Amino acid sequence: MANSHSISHEELLERLGKVVQGRLLGAGDSAYEESRRVFNAMIERRPAAILVCSDAEDVARGVAAAREYGLPISMKGGGHSVAGNAVCEDGLMLDMSSMKRILVDPERNLAVAEAGVTLGEFDAATSTYGLATTLGVVSMTGIAGLTLGGGIGWLNGKHGLACDNVLSMSVVTADGQRRTVDAGQHEDLFWAMRGGGGNFGVVVSFTYRLHPVTTVLAGPISYPPEQAADALRLYHQVASTAPDSLTTAASVTRGADGKPAVSVVVCWSGPAEEGAEVLRPLREFGPPTEDAVALIPYRELQRMPDAGFPSGRLHYWKASFLADLQDEAIGTILRFAAAAPSPYTGIGLQQITGAASRVAPAATAFAHRARQYDFLILSQWEDAADSPANIRWTRELFDAMSPHFRGVYVNNLGDEGSDRVRDAYGSNYDRLAAVKTVYDPDNVFRLNQNIQPADGAGGA
Ligand SMILES: Cc1cc2nc3c(=O)[nH]c(=O)nc-3n(C[C@H](O)[C@H](O)[C@H](O)COP(=O)(O)OP(=O)(O)OC[C@H]3O[C@@H](n4cnc5c(N)ncnc54)[C@H](O)[C@@H]3O)c2cc1C
Repeated sequence: MANSHSISHEELLERLGKVVQGRLLGAGDSAYEESRRVFNAMIERRPAAILVCSDAEDVARGVAAAREYGLPISMKGGGHSVAGNAVCEDGLMLDMSSMKRILVDPERNLAVAEAGVTLGEFDAATSTYGLATTLGVVSMTGIAGLTLGGGIGWLNGKHGLACDNVLSMSVVTADGQRRTVDAGQHEDLFWAMRGGGGNFGVVVSFTYRLHPVTTVLAGPISYPPEQAADALRLYHQVASTAPDSLTTAASVTRGADGKPAVSVVVCWSGPAEEGAEVLRPLREFGPPTEDAVALIPYRELQRMPDAGFPSGRLHYWKASFLADLQDEAIGTILRFAAAAPSPYTGIGLQQITGAASRVAPAATAFAHRARQYDFLILSQWEDAADSPANIRWTRELFDAMSPHFRGVYVNNLGDEGSDRVRDAYGSNYDRLAAVKTVYDPDNVFRLNQNIQPADGAGGA
């Protein structure tokens, strides 16, 4: 079969096969089917070839081949992007999932992790030494996509976002060069790749700063349906005033009784006695229908929501940042939750707080520095026949909430048009476009929330 470019799939596989170490997969290989699958079962794309990279050389050769043959190129880390940009149609996909080396240096509180590592794998390696850094909250997510977009997790109040804890990256840029990118080398790229997503090159490995984290006072608290509105009001009050050691998230679902069910998950990473006091109002209100807050290993918290996000379901997500949680917004959330078409769907408020909120908006490419919520409409369902109803409900809730929104987290964005992409990079967009022009003037890396090179070059 020929692709839309000047080389057939067979020829591409043959030529690339001669120069790479990693496995090359074409449509006939059984591993091809597995590799092209991503978390969101709505995504159905077929690359011309998949290169399962084994090292930086493979990455560089893959980038060079894609350029030579004029093929679109995509990179797959953990495959968790709901937008599905990890997989390209009729191009070359670089599957990083075999690159899983992790080196922890407990003396210097550092970890070097290759780009195919998942959050669970990273946490497993660092927790052996009683160390951790901020990542996300579902263990199957890839460190690569998450960190490049920002990375909001349970330690953000105390230690900042994932991208705030990156000290260095090893990157293959569009010209095929392997570069070390840090505060002293390619500083402009280092700035852009902490929030600018996969626009600037293929990351081979990240070096993260680690922090002593062993046990945390953490877990879910659920509230009676008839007190849902007051529970959200109290949640907002506690979340907006708590010390940096507390990071929280709330979720609202349709309960078995058809009423909105509110639960809050807390992570306190400071002294336990102080945490017990800070959490007291949340634990006494209601009283809760469930209170599973306990001193647990941090790694256990990191796996807690996994079961709610099995692979193979269909997903349609919409999100924006929400600075405040006023009564009108609470009313809208509860009204829509009660009418959610799928029992798996949740409305989430994931908090950005403390240290993450205080970084200057221009200090990294992640511009949205304020104490606020990442407001997420996480629609998931199993039967494709239910897609129209779930998508409609998601859009209607998003529209109803939109007066309260400002900006959006790039990692939650779907295919939503150029205005929303600009909203994602916010006040940093023009500077990002200038960096893109230097390192990727032909827009080789464009299967993402794309930053156009400043002169408008590339695209296609
Ligand atoms: C269930 C679930 C839970 C989530 N929870 C959180 C959370 O708690 N906090 C949070 O911040 N986000 C969260 N997210 C969003 C998550 O950050 C994004 O989906 C992110 O893109 C996932 O990274 P990945 O490597 O798994 O993605 P992939 O789908 O593999 O990649 C997404 C994009 O990242 C870029 N990319 C991937 N690998 C590389 C590389 N090696 N070099 C350069 N670019 C690369 C590419 O542009 C690619 O298209 C969650 C998503 C899901 C589905």
